Amino acid sequence: MWLLVALSCPALAAPQVGRDYLVTGAPTSEQAPQRHCTPEMQAELTERVEIPAPPGGWSGAPQAINVFNIFAGEVRVHHGDREICGRMHDARTRDSRFRAGVGMVVVPPAGNHEPIQVAWEKPLKPGWIPTVRIGAPSPVQQFDTARLLVRTACVAIAIALAFMALMGFLSTRDRVFFGYALLCALSVLGQSVLSGLSGYPEPWLPVDGQETRWLVAFSCVGLPILLYVMWLLVGGARLWPKTQRWLPWFTAGLCALAVAAAWLPTAGLSRLATAMDSGFVMGGVVVFALGVALLRRHRADAVPAIAAVLPFLAMAAMDLADNCLLIEYRVEAIQLSITWFLTVSAYVLNLRLGQLRRQRDEMRALADTDELTGLPNRRAGLKRLEQHMRDARASDDTLAVGFLDIDLFKRINDVHGHEAGDRVLVAVAATLTAAVRDPADVIRMGGEEFLVLLPGIGGATARARLEAMRSQVSAAGASLGVDGLAVTASIGLATLIAEDADAASLLRRADGAMYRAKHAGRDRVVDAEAARDGED
Ligand code: GH3
Ligand code: MG
Ligand code: MG
Repeated sequence: MWLLVALSCPALAAPQVGRDYLVTGAPTSEQAPQRHCTPEMQAELTERVEIPAPPGGWSGAPQAINVFNIFAGEVRVHHGDREICGRMHDARTRDSRFRAGVGMVVVPPAGNHEPIQVAWEKPLKPGWIPTVRIGAPSPVQQFDTARLLVRTACVAIAIALAFMALMGFLSTRDRVFFGYALLCALSVLGQSVLSGLSGYPEPWLPVDGQETRWLVAFSCVGLPILLYVMWLLVGGARLWPKTQRWLPWFTAGLCALAVAAAWLPTAGLSRLATAMDSGFVMGGVVVFALGVALLRRHRADAVPAIAAVLPFLAMAAMDLADNCLLIEYRVEAIQLSITWFLTVSAYVLNLRLGQLRRQRDEMRALADTDELTGLPNRRAGLKRLEQHMRDARASDDTLAVGFLDIDLFKRINDVHGHEAGDRVLVAVAATLTAAVRDPADVIRMGGEEFLVLLPGIGGATARARLEAMRSQVSAAGASLGVDGLAVTASIGLATLIAEDADAASLLRRADGAMYRAKHAGRDRVVDAEAARDGED
């Protein structure tokens, strides 16, 4: 991102003024294209309102007129010889002082009685009634800018959430995150068309005059998916696993209806959109009812689903009641509901991410730990040994390892029972762990074999430490209080040398020394180096 900014700087800086970093835009001779209201356009504008002049006529003050919630088609604002035609999706061609609606400023002469006319095409759905605001230019423009901010913020949040989900997908490879990222991306496109941002500041989506089709197509894809996600959120798939066989296909089938939007005539589109809306509300009621039923059974995981569906149900209820607030702020209400839904889903996804991380950590710990003694197992131990070898070589330090094998352990099992054998293993593990600085340096290699890592220690000191451990192991065996139980161990000592290419080579020498200790009569420490020199 910063790289892009840095790269684009020279271009931006071209028309610099003076030597300071005052960057100005390039001057242009091009005029924003004004849309003329052709007679064919006017023929389509079947709906209209007239804003009458106040009693006594207009005062001569400028009047700003701003029309919101025109989702598709042209809007014509007209007074005297001033006239503007525009649509939601061509912000460039409208009066540039207005951002979220189609606007114009007229200055009716003082005493003039001619009404201001606003006309538009028949809306796609009966409830989608346009809102006209008139007043002094500055407050009307500020109001318009506030709406634009809400619309832009909702789109920005969806973009941010999409990126977050993409990161989640890259780190977990969990398909749910990818699906969520796609949903966010879809909502960015849908919201852009719905709010007119697809034309701001320049048309960037190829909507042209087809915004009605785009909107219906988006709702055909978006609403079934939204509903399906809510169903998953409320735990429907867990409660009725059989529905998983057909519900995803059913949802996909409804999404496929989006293709039909390209061919249907306007009346068909209107019906499809209304049917989708009704289906969505019915589904939402089912999810809500299920959520409440689960909540009464103290299932707190139903809360996010209830929270996600509530704004949509509230909108449906307000629609039924012809609520003025919803009529006036429909675009913002829809966008805020979608943003809320995406945020609640992101919260649930975060919970899932935490759960996946916990499961992964648990599995990793299980894979690296010996169940009986709690010590690192061979796999983890070898990794640790390799790390110590790298550290020792990097800092030119010594490293010794002791390979310990309990003597005649099979006999201990046979005489005192397997359970006593287990207790011996646990006691030996505890004794060795207590004798080293870092417990992770004692490893159960398998059966009755242990590996002790002694970083920074070598030669006689290592041997003395292992001798001490050998006697501590015997003492630990005696303290178990099993009649006739004597525990001894044979230990092979090896110190890291330049020829040790890998951990296996060092271990081989330690193992060899341990076998020599066995042959020499057990219960002793044998140093691999000394054994090679023929001293042991
Ligand atoms: P040596 O002195 O030559 O090492 O003789 P040993 O009997 O100790 O050696 P051997 O390899 O013949 O026997 C090891 C025994 O350890 C055999 C196996 O049943 C026992 N063993 C391995 N794992 C466990 C365990 O987790 N618990 C118990 N109780 N016994 C185990
Ligand atoms: Mg053994
Ligand atoms: Mg043994």
